[in-house]
Amino acid sequence: MSGLLDLAYNLWWSWHPEVRILFKQLNQEAWKASIHNPVRMLRDLPAELLEAAEHNAEYLRRYDIIMNRFRRYLNSRSGWFKEQYPGKEALTIAYFSAEYGLHHSLPFYAGGLGFLAGDHLKECSDMGVPLVAVGFMYSEGYLHQHIQSDGWQTGSKECLDREATPVKRVLNWDGDHLVIRVPYVEPAIYVAVWKVDVGKVPLYLLDTDIPLNDEASRRISSSLYMSDREERLRQEIVLGIGGRMVLRTLGIEYSAVHLNEGHPAFALLERIRERMEHGILFDEAVRQVQGTTVFTTHTPVAAGHDVFSTDLMDKYFGTYYSELGIDRDQFLALGKHPDHPENGFNMTVLALRLSGYHNAVSKKHGEVTRQMWRGLWQDLAEDQVPIDAITNGVHLPTWMNSRIEDLLDSHFYYVAPNWQQEPDDETIWNLVDEVPDKDLWDLHLQLKNKLINRIRERKRVKWIKALDDTTNFVTEGPFLNPSVLTIGFARRFATYKRADLIFHDLDRLKKIISNRWRPVQIIFAGKAHQSDDEGKRILQKIYQIARQPEFEGRIAIVEDYNEQTAQYLVHGVDVWLNNPLPPMEACGTSGMKAGINGVLNLSILDGWWLEGYNGRNGWAFGAAEGEENRDAADADALYDILEREVIPLYYSSSLDAIPHGWVKMMKESIKSIAPRFCARRMVKDYVNNYYPKMVSSADAEREKS
Ligand SMILES: *Cc1c(COP(=O)(O)O)cnc(C)c1O
Repeated sequence: MSGLLDLAYNLWWSWHPEVRILFKQLNQEAWKASIHNPVRMLRDLPAELLEAAEHNAEYLRRYDIIMNRFRRYLNSRSGWFKEQYPGKEALTIAYFSAEYGLHHSLPFYAGGLGFLAGDHLKECSDMGVPLVAVGFMYSEGYLHQHIQSDGWQTGSKECLDREATPVKRVLNWDGDHLVIRVPYVEPAIYVAVWKVDVGKVPLYLLDTDIPLNDEASRRISSSLYMSDREERLRQEIVLGIGGRMVLRTLGIEYSAVHLNEGHPAFALLERIRERMEHGILFDEAVRQVQGTTVFTTHTPVAAGHDVFSTDLMDKYFGTYYSELGIDRDQFLALGKHPDHPENGFNMTVLALRLSGYHNAVSKKHGEVTRQMWRGLWQDLAEDQVPIDAITNGVHLPTWMNSRIEDLLDSHFYYVAPNWQQEPDDETIWNLVDEVPDKDLWDLHLQLKNKLINRIRERKRVKWIKALDDTTNFVTEGPFLNPSVLTIGFARRFATYKRADLIFHDLDRLKKIISNRWRPVQIIFAGKAHQSDDEGKRILQKIYQIARQPEFEGRIAIVEDYNEQTAQYLVHGVDVWLNNPLPPMEACGTSGMKAGINGVLNLSILDGWWLEGYNGRNGWAFGAAEGEENRDAADADALYDILEREVIPLYYSSSLDAIPHGWVKMMKESIKSIAPRFCARRMVKDYVNNYYPKMVSSADAEREKS
């Protein structure tokens, strides 16, 4: 059964429940102990257990079937892309991103941007889109969140065990671990290369934590988004310039680039420089690179756009710009913000200037982004600014609970047997109406129980170990009750997301939560960025409120939010609350994950919800634009809608104990959200909008040379 290792080292298992079950069947405790990480599990599994499976006819039968399907998947050259663009596989796209959210065993993400990238890779693999990806191996990517007894967040680092993670060493010709040197940086920085197989898509990871580097350079890839400006710049140099070097060393040809956010934008400088090595002049090289580059910008929050001082740029690019045949001023102008030229070198400006295609991640974010960057196109009217919008989507096989998928399949199958191959076909999803209310409701209650049991079990184990301070006994959800209306709020604790909005009027909230006949409970999860004290204060405030007896133990905070906790939450709560300060939520994807599982969105109209909300698939609330006391007005609107609509609908069960009105909304949520906010629709948009244009640019380039 050597194929088990092949399976374990390809994340294909992460979106195929039958493969996860195959691992689990080897030994359930070992699977749990590995925290659902098959590489770790196989490493730690006693040999007898493997041998036993080898002699188990049922196991072998399943193993053979799954291995055959896995191999067929990897070797298949068919799929949507091949049908749409026959003969075009040669134009491979290189995808650069500072983070990837693929699975909790790979701590290479901070939040939505990373999951968007991870879902993009998985979907490209399923659709046969030719993509190679580059990112970081963050050896201390997991900052485990602990909440002290006073509610203050602290973190403990867990160093990644590279041997127990689905990442493989990339080897050089001599069979040693491939190490490249990042060009044009003194003193030298070296990068070891690893690879994660995401189905058919290879993701190359850069790791500077090797003895060849000095201490400071070893830290470059230790954690996401270093706060120190120089460290951050060095990270981005390694990602862009080092990343480009890795692909070149591996002989990976690609003719187009997709930048996920501005952090990797230095990769474009290298593409220009290489063209100049072949005798092409700077201006022409820039045109060629623009014609084959798409840049996705993700946030209106200022801190999301890196700006480096000219001093730092001089220090690291002092010799580089002469390689580009331009002088210092011309070089610095590439990153100069048209409205704030004094600020320094702006990575988003660089990316916008060097890419021919740009997009924001929702329609509203498109408007906001065009307004933000209109200075770069001074002769155009704002609505003419060439920044499109492609709304994010989520990878359905990753985020739709497999039992929900099975339930739908049992009703879809007879009409649309291969419906999973066409998840963006809206008409198919109308079949959701044929699922009996009772079946969907019972399943939802099972998933809700699973979530609540998990939270309570965790709490119980902690309590047994006496790690617990009794004053905070209630804050982690020991009293959660599966029959109570449950609201979930989980995301990064960035200030603009206003996690504490619902606490604006404590008396009013108290009445809602502690209503004797129709109580409400709320589950929070999320980490504040290490250097974000304001985010930590918000978390602390919630924590301190949660332990007040008046709130009856109905407010729970789940520590250490990650992909696994996200899965439980988006499958198992009743309502998904989102209340960012508009228009700061560029898109938001967790609400999509909830919505496709029939968890109803209760959200401010911002980001994707402006497109997703249809009046029947959840709720929208919030003050009108321009409202002076926005927090108070939004909070009031939230209480109103809870009292008038959400709570009565939830508790309006009929004789058969099923809240039919609620289930109707759940169905509307699934069928309206799944086809329009799935990664299939999103990747089609990217490919159809940009791919043919980039192909003709690349063709024109080839003819010239
Ligand atoms: C989806 C996801 C996010 C992003 O959620 P938003 O609603 O876009 O903020 C963050 N963290 C985890 C673990 C996720 O799964």
